Amino acid sequence: MTARRAVLIKLPRDKCDVDYVKRLMALANLAYRGYEVWVPNMPRTIQHQLYDFRDFKDSLVFGTTPKRWFAETWVPLKTLRIYQDGSMKGDKGAPVALDFEDDVIRLRQVCRNEHRYVVEVPMPRWVIERVNEGGDIKYAMIGLENDEPYLALVAERVVEPYQPSNYMLAIDVNAWNNGITWGLIRDGRLVKWKPERPNLSEIDGLYDLSMRLSREYGRLKRLGLHRTVEGRRLWRNIKKVRRKIYAKLRDYAQKLVHRLVRKALRHKALVIIDDMIEESRRELIEEKIPRGLRKVYLAETRRFVKLLITQLRWYGVPYEFKRLPSTICPVCQHELTQLPDRTMACTNCGFKAPRDKIPIHWAIKSHQEGDGKNNPPPLERR
Ligand SMILES: [Zn+2]
Repeated sequence: MTARRAVLIKLPRDKCDVDYVKRLMALANLAYRGYEVWVPNMPRTIQHQLYDFRDFKDSLVFGTTPKRWFAETWVPLKTLRIYQDGSMKGDKGAPVALDFEDDVIRLRQVCRNEHRYVVEVPMPRWVIERVNEGGDIKYAMIGLENDEPYLALVAERVVEPYQPSNYMLAIDVNAWNNGITWGLIRDGRLVKWKPERPNLSEIDGLYDLSMRLSREYGRLKRLGLHRTVEGRRLWRNIKKVRRKIYAKLRDYAQKLVHRLVRKALRHKALVIIDDMIEESRRELIEEKIPRGLRKVYLAETRRFVKLLITQLRWYGVPYEFKRLPSTICPVCQHELTQLPDRTMACTNCGFKAPRDKIPIHWAIKSHQEGDGKNNPPPLERR
């Protein structure tokens, strides 16, 4: 199985001509559609590499055909890898050279339309780590996000999932207000479990601040004053606060994925994931959480699951998606009733547990049922 991971590296804006990258992106879009357009005042090497690439595009993580004409398509680039022992891999004329001797990445001719123009960026630790894990960076891409130039690197690694031990790691993904609960199970017994949440009071505080600023902006707008210096400053502030909220959640999600993958690896566990984010969305509506805050609580949860899967695959951790309910009794399957302190109780059999723990009980149950299925069939009597 080939596993892939990707990373984004911001390129220095002063050394990277945004308009040139835009032109390259437009050409990449055409190339994806099967058109060859040779622009006279652009280096042939780049254009050759674009049209060569059509054959490779299916192997790229980002290699989906753009949906619209003139959509901004990232430019796929080949790489040359120069290792510390002087050996090389890849196309010698590739526009992206990863030099592990000098610890730099050289971008040739993709940052400015100028003969022999080279931009050097320091080798990110991410790349060193992936290469040490047996990965290879065969492809890169250049493109713009929010009008800023970025280089994307794609690491590839062939890996077979390990045979799981007697450990299981159950991960129940919810909106951030309830958080992500994990449970470590050994031989069908719970070893440890924990709900993980970002700093919610900080997130809520930032959300309140953004709402307060938005109301103020709305007031200025009604007075027709939103284009004034003050109005513009307010608008910039609102955007800054919103970006901060999302950056915090993104960072939290990324760190949590890292921890959980390490945990799974340490125990050679089988990972069980429940990613019923839609259910969380409905719950948030039922709880009458305002729309804006709902969006915040759900932000990056999909990305959390994607990141988690990407890294589990990368390290060869076996995983399964399984439904782990939180409102159904894991003993008798009766509907559970929620008590004021987030305890769930079964009126049928008397089962009681904190709400976050219910999915973990279901994971234990599924393990026991799984065992039953794997048992040899009973001997027939004659
Ligand atoms: Zn019950």
